[in-house]
Amino acid sequence: MMRREALPTPCYILDEAKLRSNLELLHRVEQESGAKILLAQKAFSCFAVYPLIAEYLSGTTASGLYEARLGAEEFRKENHVFSPAYDEAEFAELCRICDHISFNSFRQLEKYRPVWEKAGVSVGIRVNPECSTQGDHAIYDPCASGSRLGVTRENFRPDLLGGVEGLHFHTLCEQNADDLITTFAAFEEKFGAFAGGMKWLNLGGGHHITRADYDVPALISLIRRIREQYGVTVYLEPGEAIALNAGWLDTTVMDSVENGIKVLILDASAACHMPDVLEMPYRPPLKDSGEQGEKPYEYRLSSRTCLAGDIIGDYSFDREIRIGDRLTFCDMAIYSMVKNNTFNGMPLPAIAIQHENGDCEIIRQFGYADFKGRLS
Ligand SMILES: *Cc1c(COP(=O)(O)O)cnc(C)c1O
Repeated sequence: MMRREALPTPCYILDEAKLRSNLELLHRVEQESGAKILLAQKAFSCFAVYPLIAEYLSGTTASGLYEARLGAEEFRKENHVFSPAYDEAEFAELCRICDHISFNSFRQLEKYRPVWEKAGVSVGIRVNPECSTQGDHAIYDPCASGSRLGVTRENFRPDLLGGVEGLHFHTLCEQNADDLITTFAAFEEKFGAFAGGMKWLNLGGGHHITRADYDVPALISLIRRIREQYGVTVYLEPGEAIALNAGWLDTTVMDSVENGIKVLILDASAACHMPDVLEMPYRPPLKDSGEQGEKPYEYRLSSRTCLAGDIIGDYSFDREIRIGDRLTFCDMAIYSMVKNNTFNGMPLPAIAIQHENGDCEIIRQFGYADFKGRLS
């Protein structure tokens, strides 16, 4: 029995209980809507828990060959892939390990037609419904003007649809069912005439289904309507929703300095271990803390890299924080382990699981070899 406090820091800790409760909800959505839900591995590729996830979901989706291989090796259910472009060697291998392949252009579809026709995989075309629902988050908006992602109606080639079994769109990011309903209406207006001839429609990811305020009944009724009207299999491929709030990053305070503000130096780094904090950007939730100005003890949380901007955020506490204290960042399962790096030669956080009975287990530790091994 290993206690949480005995884990090394920095350490990503998966919350098995929360993961399972997310999966139970997603499984209920599958059952009540008839949709198939796939894990988008780009958000969460923690393959130690793929057997658990595979008890509840229909398969995986990949952004390229390596994720597709991981899905084939560790998840072993339906295996989908979408990439804006495939090269010849990887395409041949993808045809062996994937059952569904989506293309981003009719040129790519035609380039590989002889290969996919012979391999017997189910192919789809990603379309762009040209319906932005994300406000000013252009970096995550595949419908932003000039987007390379998905074929617009203007460039859509009904004459080349022979053999194509699916249409795919992905336009959402951390959104609710209302935005999917809006997007589906735009999709229907532009591409609805082709949907009935397909075997499947893939509505992409970005559905924040496991967030407390998500309108699950609205999602289920939309999917039921689509399945009845078009006679297709509906796929959803969320990443975030699968492991939302199902992990932490535990860190230790290494030093503190003062420069008009008290700054804590942690063994975790925004730049290296939670890059979305800087990229998105956002201030990650921290256990037992408040907003700036809310509680009496205020600190800026920062890291030990050389990057001046490697700042996680400003937080307040009920008590003084001391060197050696452990702090816990929340919602750190998604887009964390898959995006981390060893900039500054920083060590990578270990990966652990907190089991449902509270027992903690280290499932992976990294060292100097992981830093050196990707350089030459
Ligand atoms: C990013 C992405 C997903 C998963 O998105 P989440 O926001 O993590 O739910 C699914 N499909 C495609 C094509 C994507 O690019």
